[in-house]
Amino acid sequence: MREGELLQHIYDRSASLPRSVIVGPGDDCAVVDIGGAHILVATDQLIGGRHFAESETPTDLIARKAIARNVSDIAAMAGTPTHTLCAASLPEEYTHADELFDRVHAWANHFGCPLVGGDIAMTAGPLALAVTIMGTPHADRGPVLRSGARPGDHVFLSGPVGASYESGWHLGFEPRIALAQRIASDLRDRLRAMIDLSDGLGIDAHRVATASGVRIEMEAHAIPLRDGTPSWREGVRDGEDYELLVCAQADAIDGLVRIGRVVEGDGCVVREGDEVIDVSVQGWDHG
Ligand SMILES: [Mg+2]
Repeated sequence: MREGELLQHIYDRSASLPRSVIVGPGDDCAVVDIGGAHILVATDQLIGGRHFAESETPTDLIARKAIARNVSDIAAMAGTPTHTLCAASLPEEYTHADELFDRVHAWANHFGCPLVGGDIAMTAGPLALAVTIMGTPHADRGPVLRSGARPGDHVFLSGPVGASYESGWHLGFEPRIALAQRIASDLRDRLRAMIDLSDGLGIDAHRVATASGVRIEMEAHAIPLRDGTPSWREGVRDGEDYELLVCAQADAIDGLVRIGRVVEGDGCVVREGDEVIDVSVQGWDHG
């Protein structure tokens, strides 16, 4: 079963959730009401051999990526990370457990979301870290969902896409927490929708289009590419960019690159000259 099908299976079973669930499965974070406070919560796994090369990745960077990709999900809602939990599956022969947890602890503190609990199990491998992160929504804007894009909005990117794995960016990226909060403070409700790019610009932009019931059209020449990315075609599908895709009722946003627009319809395409290329499945569907 592919990840997309499994997620749909989960969403289908989330149709009738209690009123304490403000935003259920299907966005970068869930939003839940706990004692009257709205809390962001998300979880993500980091697995050896899949998300990092087990033999060659320094322990510090494994720990950093495990925390940072969760922090990036909080950034995608324009929230503030506050607390972290980490459950680790350690191969029986693994000898760096103390260092690994020291670094998880340190990076959680670095991103402002201290480690408050976790679990350890010994397994046959590979090394795997499951991180749960909690946060608070933006005080003025509230959580920025994937579903708010409207025809007429412009589409922006916070940085280049492509060659994340080859360049090492996937281990050392900077989650866009401060940027997201600044945009939310400046634009308030004109900031319509956001997602952090984990699986590829094509597939992730399509997720926003689908959640919002709109079509996203991007211009090939406008898509910023990381050094080492041959063309926009690789850039839209490489994944692990951890940049923000932003849909906003604004002509320009300081620090972001405008790459396209939101129109009526459905799907996600790139325009290159007279050509219109469907990129809605361009990226990682972790099958
Ligand atoms: Mg995400």
